[in-house]
Amino acid sequence: PGIEDEVLEVSDLDVHYGVGRRRHRALSGVSLQVRSGETLGLIGETGSGKSTLARTVLGLVRASGGRVRIGGEDVTGYSQRQWRSFRRRGVVQYVFQDPLRSLDPDLTVQESLLEPLLLRGDPRASALEAVREQFARVNLDEHLLPRRPAELSGGQRQRVAVARALVVEPALIILDEPVSALDAANRVQILQIIKNLRDAGTALVFISHDLGSVAGVADRIAVLYQGELVESGSTAEVLRTPQHAYTRLLLGSVPTLHAPPATRAERQALRAQLNGEPV
Ligand code: ADP
Repeated sequence: PGIEDEVLEVSDLDVHYGVGRRRHRALSGVSLQVRSGETLGLIGETGSGKSTLARTVLGLVRASGGRVRIGGEDVTGYSQRQWRSFRRRGVVQYVFQDPLRSLDPDLTVQESLLEPLLLRGDPRASALEAVREQFARVNLDEHLLPRRPAELSGGQRQRVAVARALVVEPALIILDEPVSALDAANRVQILQIIKNLRDAGTALVFISHDLGSVAGVADRIAVLYQGELVESGSTAEVLRTPQHAYTRLLLGSVPTLHAPPATRAERQALRAQLNGEPV
């Protein structure tokens, strides 16, 4: 596969928040690639920088160093205006943990789904057809189309958010904790939709603190720890032979994945090591 297959290419990315003495680093030297038809599982605990990475790739946070290429296009130095026009083309879409953040509360479901298509310049008739098609794909009934997000259940809302991301057939979808707020039944459904997407050739970045939900879907796994990428490899490789102490710690808390079980003492020692304490 050549370089043109890379849908997402992040190179040596640094992101800082705050200014002056409050300035702190959220991401440091992060590099990763995602090809078309590939799902990258990005895992790490709260505060490790996962959402910052997602928000930088979506143009919502500005990098202080490094480069981001999406669909072969270098978006690193884009102004707000350039981002707006890039977004309108629908190359990259997103699904957040809270569907109310992915959906406009004032728009009906139909309007929400039509919006990205009409912005892109699709004729209304073909846009309506695409909306109906996506709705069926996420197992939603058309009688929900006139409703607003507040009138839907949590699981329905998240399926609408997924349908909205799909409707423009983007090259890349960033899923930030897409199942974390859902109950078991809805979780299974959304995970199945994500698997279908992957099989249909969309490049996905699936972000989660929960290795268990990512492992069943991701081709490769990357582990963020305190703003740095400490591990990356095929899912099987990372589960079988994790290289970094933090990944082993994560695996120790997912007993069903057949990782060498970490004992309580081992885990305490790892924690201490990770925090730079003498063991
Ligand atoms: P995760 O998604 O893995 O929980 P985040 O990307 O949200 O991690 O956060 C990474 C680091 O950046 C944390 O230390 C967090 O406190 C900090 N951070 C996140 N968002 C902001 C913000 N808007 N302003 C200042 N600091 C932030």
